[in-house]
Amino acid sequence: MSAPFDTVSILNVPFIKTTNQAFVAQLEQDVLAHQNRFVVTANPEILMYAREHPEYQQVLQQADYITPDGIGVIQGAQILGTPLPERITGYDTLLALLKWGAKQHQRVFLLGAKPAVLKQVVAKLKSTAPNLVIAGALDGYYADETTVVDQIVAAKPDMIFIATGFPKQEFFIAAHRHQVDGLWMGIGGSFDVLAGTVKRAPKFWQKHHIEWLYRLIQEPSRFKRMLVLPRYLHLIKKIAKQSKS
Ligand code: UDP
Repeated sequence: MSAPFDTVSILNVPFIKTTNQAFVAQLEQDVLAHQNRFVVTANPEILMYAREHPEYQQVLQQADYITPDGIGVIQGAQILGTPLPERITGYDTLLALLKWGAKQHQRVFLLGAKPAVLKQVVAKLKSTAPNLVIAGALDGYYADETTVVDQIVAAKPDMIFIATGFPKQEFFIAAHRHQVDGLWMGIGGSFDVLAGTVKRAPKFWQKHHIEWLYRLIQEPSRFKRMLVLPRYLHLIKKIAKQSKS
């Protein structure tokens, strides 16, 4: 982990203890200094997956910043008696960085999502953020990883956003980040939200901590994935109880 923030450990994963504002300011500074950075925005699903897959857990240990994406992480930290200030989602961080990047004429590389979705994202950015340099954009259904990496290197990006979902995006970043000194960040389904294919929960749902329910209604196929949440909370409560006794 990079040093600027204190961390809170949940299931052996260190989360940065900071706010959205301070985090984005730090990333901006890192990008301007051409630091090599790896950002993971983690939720309970990722934590449980890492528990069962040591090779993924190892990849997480290489991240510079792991943020609490998902209310379950905030709740977990609370239950363990080591609260975190707020959620820092991949989507919000992406938006903030794109906005800043446009002002600074930064070069971005976009990798992920279905071809039609990515096309919409690129068109949207070209019209809303004309000063942002889209140094490259490739959909997430590539056959040859080496060709993709070669294109990223040739594009000389300052920020590389990878939207192929976990664990694929984190494995990709860990394997290739050292080829470009820039900001590498896994952002899951963010391009779908940016393109408007999937809707982000309105503020009301976010405020009442039921964004996950909104998402489930939109994408019922996620139900099976979400079954991990009660198992996660049960585990956290068990750990909290053990540490008290
Ligand atoms: N995706 C991709 N390549 C793949 C598999 C998935 O680009 O081989 C994309 C998919 O189109 C979607 C995103 O990755 O845009 C995954 O979204 P999801 O919401 O499942 O990710 P999470 O945020 O849960 O990691």
